[in-house]
Parts: sequence; C-alpha cells; structure tokens
Amino acid sequence: MQHNLHVARQQAPAAHLWAVVKANAYGHGLERGMRGFAAADGLALVEPDAAVRLRELGWTKPILLLEGCFDAIDFKLAALHGVEVAIHSSQQIGWLEQTRFEAPINVHLKMNSGMNRLGFMPVDFAAAYQRLRSHRSVGSISLMTHFANADQSDPPALPMAEQLRRFHIGSLGIDAPVSLANSAALLQHHDLVSNQVRPGIMLYGATPSAKPAARLGLRSAMTLQSELIGIQHILPGEAVGYGSRFVADAPMTIGVVACGYADGYPRHAPTGTPVLVDGVRTRLIGNVSMDMLTVDLTPIATAHHGSCVTLWGDALPIDEVAQAAGTIGYELMCAIAPRVRMTER
Ligand SMILES: *Cc1c(COP(=O)(O)O)cnc(C)c1O
Repeated sequence: MQHNLHVARQQAPAAHLWAVVKANAYGHGLERGMRGFAAADGLALVEPDAAVRLRELGWTKPILLLEGCFDAIDFKLAALHGVEVAIHSSQQIGWLEQTRFEAPINVHLKMNSGMNRLGFMPVDFAAAYQRLRSHRSVGSISLMTHFANADQSDPPALPMAEQLRRFHIGSLGIDAPVSLANSAALLQHHDLVSNQVRPGIMLYGATPSAKPAARLGLRSAMTLQSELIGIQHILPGEAVGYGSRFVADAPMTIGVVACGYADGYPRHAPTGTPVLVDGVRTRLIGNVSMDMLTVDLTPIATAHHGSCVTLWGDALPIDEVAQAAGTIGYELMCAIAPRVRMTER
C-alpha cells in the first residue's frame, strides 16, 4: 500500500492526494488503510460512521466524505469531527444551512459533467457555488467531478474530453481548486491538471483499466490464500460439485479448497478460472460452493492435504481472476467476507 501510494504520488507530485478508503479500504480493513496510507494528505470515503472511526483511531489529517452527508445529522458529525464533505445537491446545501458550525467546514462542490449520477448540472453550478460562498461557515470550496471513461481511449459514448469541456464551461469564472482524478485519470491522463487527486483502486494494486497492474508499477496489496482440505481421484464420467456441471473426460485428481462464495470468492467464476496450488498454476473446475471450491490437481504431482492455494495475489493478479469471472478487481476486493482471517506481511 505504501509502494502504490508512492506510485500515485509520482503521477501528480504537486496535488493534494486523497487516498480513497471507502468500503472498508476496498476490503483491506479501514485501520490497515489508515496505516498504509499514513503519508497521504487525506483519506476519502463514503461512510460517515467510518469517518468518525478514523478520528477515533487517531487520524488527524483531513477526511473527505465523497458522497457528502446523507441527512442533517451527518452534518453535525462532520462539524464535530472536522470532516470535509462533497456537496452534490440542493438538499445537502439546505442541511448545511441548518447546521451550527464551531469551525468552518471545507466543501467539495460536485458537478454532473455527464456521468449522470451525482452533482449539479453545469448551468446550475455557479449558483450553487455562490450559495455556498455566501455562507459564513463554509471554508474552502473545491470543484469536483468524476469521469465515466478515464480508462478508455475510445469510449462508446462520453469521452473524458467532453466531460472536461462541460466542467470548464460550468465552472467558468469560479476561482477555486479542482478535484478531478480517480486512479484511471491519474494514470492515463498526465496532461490533466487536478489540484486534488482521489486514487482508490491503484493504491491496492489492481488496475483501473485494461493495462495490467504490474505494467503500471503497482503491487497487489491483498493475497487471498487457503489450502487443500480434500483430494479425490475420479474416473471418467464422474461429475464434481453442485449441479454436476463439470464432468471428467479422463481419470482426474480433484482438490477441494476451503474457500467459497461466503468468503467472497465469486460464485460465477467458471471452470478454467486460474488458481495456484503450491505456486503451480491450475484451474477451477465445477461450481463454486458456499465454503469450498474445487480445482484440477492432475498437473500438480506434489499436491497434498494442506497444500497452499492462492486464489489471487502477488503471483496471480486479481484482475485476471476478475476477468475470468466476468467482473472487476474492485468487486472481488470489496466482497472479502468478515470471516476471512486477515494477517499482515
Ligand atoms: C471511489 C471513488 C474514487 C476512487 O476511484 P478509483 O477508480 O478506485 O481510483 C474517486 N472519486 C470518487 C468520487 C469515488 O467515489
């Protein structure tokens, strides 16, 4: 995590770097994220209670709520704990205006530049800015937007340049720092000027794009490992697991791994998804069950009870597993279940 933070820093040395630790630091644990990203300028996340938890854990640098407050009570929490907030709706400005602040609150005014999730339309942006600027408890205001396709050079619709064009039109005449870059924008658009950057996925060593993480100089923060708890020797015609979807066409050795979808392994991973047993690459076979999955041990003569099984990590990029399962590294990381024991290297 420290190494990846350093890589992110190098992409934009002058920018204020928010390390994104939402969703339990993308499944790595909030406290671990806090320690791993101690050198960041601030931590950004979505969950107000986790923001408070960061203060309790001793984080004294800035904290930013990326979706802002979900109700008026959240503003009281933000005020109490000195948490910065995104403002994406008039509703939120209303709550802010009802809150009493002892100290000024820093806000990040969000524009909907085309992703059509959160934010003010470009035509309404200046008015929202003025409404905030005229409030005596509002401290700094940054201008923020989020890109739908920073990872693609030829997106089907809404190129990044179009979002930037809308952003610049909507913020014309407003003199304020801008916060534009997620991991993909940070890694792929070196010409982008963003006073603040908000990398998430790259800090955990997965790729935000089609380019492999290793080629971006990133290292996987998370390794998901288990072991073989069973071995079966089966004859041709025998099926494996629920639904009997995999049928052996030759004599086979099957390994049973103590890891299933209740641990966060994707249930939709098909036969053929890569797995390492004793460091040797083999394939998942059959349906993933709640607590177990099965692998082909035929090519691995050394495999035995207790053999180490790597589901993803250093030697097996999470992005490769994600792709095989029809998803993205983000989802796999976030899905790691509480029952998975976490240790640190
Ligand atoms: C999650 C999030 C990020 C980080 O995105 P990555 O693709 O993980 O780098 C940045 N900005 C906002 C507003 C986010 O919600």
